Amino acid sequence: MNKSSELFEQAKKHIPGGVNSPVRAFNGVGGTPVFFAKADGACVYDVDGKEYIDYVGSWGPMILGHNHPAIKTAVLKAVENGLSFGAPTEVEVTMADKVCEFLPSVEKVRMVNSGTEATMTAIRLARGFTGRDKLLKFEGCYHGHADSLLVKAGSGLLTMGVPSSPGIPADVAAHTLTAEFNNLDSVRALFEAQPDDIACIIVEPVAGNMNCIPPNDGFLQGLRDLCDEFKAVLIFDEVMTGFRVAKGSCQTLYNVKPDLTTLGKIIGGGMPVGAFGGRADIMGHLAPDGPVYQAGTLSGNPVAMAAGLAALEQLEADGFYQELTDKTTYLLNGIKAQAAKYKVAMTTSQVGGMFGLFFTDKEKVQSFAEVMTCDADKFKRFFHLCLEQGIYLAPSAFEAGFVSAAHSYEQLDKTIAGIGKALEQL
Ligand code: PMP
Repeated sequence: MNKSSELFEQAKKHIPGGVNSPVRAFNGVGGTPVFFAKADGACVYDVDGKEYIDYVGSWGPMILGHNHPAIKTAVLKAVENGLSFGAPTEVEVTMADKVCEFLPSVEKVRMVNSGTEATMTAIRLARGFTGRDKLLKFEGCYHGHADSLLVKAGSGLLTMGVPSSPGIPADVAAHTLTAEFNNLDSVRALFEAQPDDIACIIVEPVAGNMNCIPPNDGFLQGLRDLCDEFKAVLIFDEVMTGFRVAKGSCQTLYNVKPDLTTLGKIIGGGMPVGAFGGRADIMGHLAPDGPVYQAGTLSGNPVAMAAGLAALEQLEADGFYQELTDKTTYLLNGIKAQAAKYKVAMTTSQVGGMFGLFFTDKEKVQSFAEVMTCDADKFKRFFHLCLEQGIYLAPSAFEAGFVSAAHSYEQLDKTIAGIGKALEQL
C-alpha cells in the first residue's frame, strides 16, 4: 500500500469521504486519490515522491505555476505585519483599483473568501436591485454551492451524478430557471413566459465545469441584448475565466459588458479569495451604502490580498497571455496528433490557457447534452494511464484543464509523449 492509500484510509475516519471537496475523492474516475506533499512550477509531488506535470493548477488559481517567487515573497512580507485585522487596509484599496483597471465593466468591487460567496452575493444583489426573485442559469454550469445555484449544476455534481443536490427546499429551487448553453432561443422562451420575474442571468462565459465549452458567436451578446430587453441583470461568473483567458477576462475577449462579474481563483494567487463587482449603481445597493446585506470576518484579508495582488501584477507582463495561448495550442496540437496516430476519436477545445479534451467523434461540443454523449468510461481509463505517465489531469471528465506560465515546452513535449502512450494503451 502506498502512502496516499494509507492516508486516504485514515482520512475517511474523520473527514466525510476522506476529502474536503468532493471531486478530490476520485469518484469520477475510480481508484484512490493522490495526496500531494508539495508543488513547484508546473509540477506537483505526491506523498510517495512521484512527480506529475500538473494541468489542474489547484483548479485554476495557479496560472503562474506553483510556488511563484513573487507571490511567496509578498505573502511572507504580509505575514510579518499580522494575519488579520478585521479593519480596512491599504492593500485592499490597491487591489480594488487593480481589478477595476483590468476589468472595464467593474466600477466597484467587494472582496470575499470564495467563488461561492461571490456568486451567492451577486445573485442577492441582482434580486435586491431588480425587486425580482427568479434567476436564470445554464444546465451544466457551476457557480459554487449556494442553494439556488445547485440546480442542474456542473463540476462535482456531474461527477457524482447528482446535478441537483438534496437539502435545497423546493420553494428555493423553484426560483432557479435553467436554459441550454449556446441556445439563445431557450433563454428567450423563459423570458417571454415570465417577462417581469427574472432578476438575472448568471453564466460562465466560457463553460469550464462541464469540460470546456466556448460560447458560440453571438451567444454572449445575445444574453446582453435579452437582459437589456427584459431589464434583467447580466452576471458573468468569471471565477474560472477571470484573468485566465485574457487580462481583461471574457468580457474583453468577447467584447460584451456584463452588469456584474464574479471572480475567484487567480485573484487570490492561491489563497482563499473571491470577489464580485460591476456597475456602480448596482453595487450602490450593497451595505453599508444600500440595504442588500453582505459581510465577512476575513474578507479582504491582508495576506490573501498581498498574494492576489502579486499574482495580478505578474499578469501585466507584455505578451503574457499570447505565450500562454501559444503553449496551450502547442499542447493540444500534439495531443491531437497522438490521437490521430492511435486512431482514438477525440476533440479538443481551447480559450487562451484553458482547454478541454472530449472522447467523441463530434467535431465540436457545444452544450451539456453533447457533453453527456462523450465516452466517460474511456476518460476514466485515460485519466489513470496519464497518472501512471506522471501527468495530472482533473479527476473528472467534466472539468477544464489549465496550462500555466511555468509549463516549459520540454514539459509540454513530455506530456504529449506520455499522453501518446496512454492513448496507445486505451
Ligand atoms: N464559479 C465557477 C465558474 C467556478 O468554477 C467555481 C469553482 N470551481 C465557483 C464558482 C465556486 O468557487 P469556490 O470553489 O471558490 O467556492
